[in-house]
Amino acid sequence: MHTSKFSTDEVFKSRQDLIDWVQKLGRSLGYIIVIKRSRKNRSGVMSKVILICDRGGKYRGTGSSSRHTGTKKMNCPFELVGKYSSMRECWTLKVICEKHNHEPAEDMEGHPYAMRLTENEVRLVEDLSRKNVKPRDILSTLKEQNPNNVSTLRTIYNARRKFWATEHEGRTQMQVVMSFLQEEGYMHEARTNKSNELEDLFFIHPISMEMWRAFPHVLLMDATYKTNRYKMPLLEIDGVTSTNMTFCIAFVFMNKEKEPNYTWALNCLKKTIDGYASPRVIITDRELALMKACTNVFPDAKQLLCRWHIYQSILRKCRPSITSHQSWNFFYKAWTSLVESQTEETYKFNLAQVEEILLEYQGVLDYLNEVA
Ligand SMILES: [Zn+2]
Repeated sequence: MHTSKFSTDEVFKSRQDLIDWVQKLGRSLGYIIVIKRSRKNRSGVMSKVILICDRGGKYRGTGSSSRHTGTKKMNCPFELVGKYSSMRECWTLKVICEKHNHEPAEDMEGHPYAMRLTENEVRLVEDLSRKNVKPRDILSTLKEQNPNNVSTLRTIYNARRKFWATEHEGRTQMQVVMSFLQEEGYMHEARTNKSNELEDLFFIHPISMEMWRAFPHVLLMDATYKTNRYKMPLLEIDGVTSTNMTFCIAFVFMNKEKEPNYTWALNCLKKTIDGYASPRVIITDRELALMKACTNVFPDAKQLLCRWHIYQSILRKCRPSITSHQSWNFFYKAWTSLVESQTEETYKFNLAQVEEILLEYQGVLDYLNEVA
């Protein structure tokens, strides 16, 4: 026995009210109802809407259309017609066929149509995205406002992508970045190759610029390789305040980790402070191309190796030779005192200690000599 749920004497104030009512009822029964066609009357006013099941329409196998919507068309006969009466100034609903040729969906979650955002929800996503709200938090806001919302994180990401695309219409990703840097007051410089592709990009935040001018004496440089989504090496240049706090000065995206790229980056950095001061100490991670570039651009600065990187290197090269845990601790203690020597005298004393320990480990001595 088939009971008619869609037959109604109800009248709707607008076409949208009618569609909302039908779709809501459809969803509660486990079906997605979509607009097949809308018609205008002779005066150009919307007067008719044909609503069908999303499984309606011709079955096209695994053709591109069904793959695109994620729904299989299977000629479901379900069909309703909404009509506008200009006499009564309202919309009414007529059932053409209320049967489906398939089972209702048990769970609407994950259904592409059910996940679609309403116009207001799209606006909310845009608004929150502009305020840098995280997608996860946007999603929970949506669900708070509308408990029936079955969107997933993917829905939010897609909505955002669409919105950024129109926002940045007609501009390349690079142009967007450049105008962002411009608008936010970053000091920046870029260079391109012959085919006008970006090679290197250097930028400093305005606050970093102030800090850099106040504390120009020590530079820390660290290149991270291929960790960002553009697979470009990123050089981070930090400074140190008088209270031993590190702060970020500049970032450089580089096309290659080669000496000319580093030299270009350091020259950009030098230009930003020329006439104020010059760094006196530069600490790097023993990246040879970078060290060479430092010598080119800041010949007067003393170059030191970062203690953390030295330790990593010692761990890698020396730990295998010093096998017992006790000997290693002993060596490491002596090594730390050596590194922390405050005067030349204590340095010499500590060095002698380390050398004595290492008499037993020729491989380690060779390595340390090589580093020094
Ligand atoms: Zn159906």
